[in-house]
Amino acid sequence: MEKRSALITGANKSIGFETARQLGLRGYKVWLGCRDEQRGRAAMEKLAAEGIESCFIVMDVTDAGTLQEAAQQVLKEEGKLDVLINNAGISGDQQVAPSEQSIDDIIEVYNTNVFGAIRVTQHFIPLLRAASGAKIIMVSSGLGSLEWVSDLNHPYSKIQAMGYTSSKTALNAITVAFAKELIDDNISVNAVDPGYTATDFNGHTGYRTVSEAAAGIVWLAEREGSETTAGFFFDGSRAPW
Ligand code: NAP
Repeated sequence: MEKRSALITGANKSIGFETARQLGLRGYKVWLGCRDEQRGRAAMEKLAAEGIESCFIVMDVTDAGTLQEAAQQVLKEEGKLDVLINNAGISGDQQVAPSEQSIDDIIEVYNTNVFGAIRVTQHFIPLLRAASGAKIIMVSSGLGSLEWVSDLNHPYSKIQAMGYTSSKTALNAITVAFAKELIDDNISVNAVDPGYTATDFNGHTGYRTVSEAAAGIVWLAEREGSETTAGFFFDGSRAPW
């Protein structure tokens, strides 16, 4: 059987790298989308040491030129893409009151977390259409859940990071928008909350491991057919929008 392929943005470390590792161990051909060549090659070598073959590809989600070249490379070498995982993300300022957060900081966060995911998805849709039953997975956050952040008894309501939390709420809305467009192409589009995970993103304060975080992403990648689409998931269960 032909190998399924998966492309992960922000794959050089943390949740993105572990997702690539888990998919590689399951027999996927993995494309490591990384903005820095050195870090990308180091990630590829780390996977190779575990016997996982991967391809590093330069992708800065804020730079459309790199995305166009990346899509052309995958087209030339593979002609299709089975799974696209929009994982690259930044936090912006944390624990800053909404009235104090600078517009420049919010714009930077949106340019990566929101416009980045849209840019990457738009560039790779032709390749996803060329596959059979392709999947798009948006790595969102529980902090994007309006139900959780507006519940004053929920720990997520205590986080002050308007740029980041609203960027993930927007990403959830974008998930639904693409899901509706692509349903007739048998392409599923879902968002996933990896949970509060120990990575550089939060100075390793998260209580979950990257292995647990990636497992929920891989679970979505392995859903059959497009019946699971336009959803938001945490550890294989529905999360509230
Ligand atoms: P991380 O350790 O900070 O890693 C982020 C990755 O994204 C890095 O590979 C980084 O590349 C890459 N990246 C950032 N900006 C990029 C750009 N413009 N183009 C391409 N790649 C870029 O974060 P993480 O914890 O693994 O988080 C991954 C995703 O999970 C993010 O979307 C985050 O919002 C989400 N998430 C994380 C948590 C958590 O608790 N960790 C919880 C919920 C959701 P460089 O190494 O080059 O900087």
